[in-house]
Amino acid sequence: MVIADTIFSKIIKHEIIADIVYQDELVTAFRDASPCAPIHILIVPNFLIPTLNDVVEDHEAILGRMIILASKIAKDEGIAEDGYRVIINCNKNGRQEVYHLHLHLIGGCLLGPMLVYRDI
Ligand code: AMP
Repeated sequence: MVIADTIFSKIIKHEIIADIVYQDELVTAFRDASPCAPIHILIVPNFLIPTLNDVVEDHEAILGRMIILASKIAKDEGIAEDGYRVIINCNKNGRQEVYHLHLHLIGGCLLGPMLVYRDI
């Protein structure tokens, strides 16, 4: 398996330490290093897809795995019933910081309202 070098690919390859909660042949899930809620887990493909713009039909299985895993981890973490939020940031206006596609699973408390626009 060839994995390009992003900070997340190093986590996937266990080259840098992260709190990995799940890993299989397609995806890896680990706790965010700067959590914005009591539960903040990132779910990433094991190979590099930089942004949501780079997704193609061949990625259907991996994207399905990411969503199904988010639902499963939410149950495992005990936040499913109260609810949670799933976010994918894309590019500059989406405030994407790491260019390795990832899904944020965020919960464990009452979250703030969705940010739609802020004049800065
Ligand atoms: P985004 O803005 O969607 O690209 O989010 C990137 C996320 O990756 C942020 O929430 C960071 O806190 C998180 N992050 C960056 N480096 C690490 C790391 N080494 N381990 C865990 N999470 C990280």
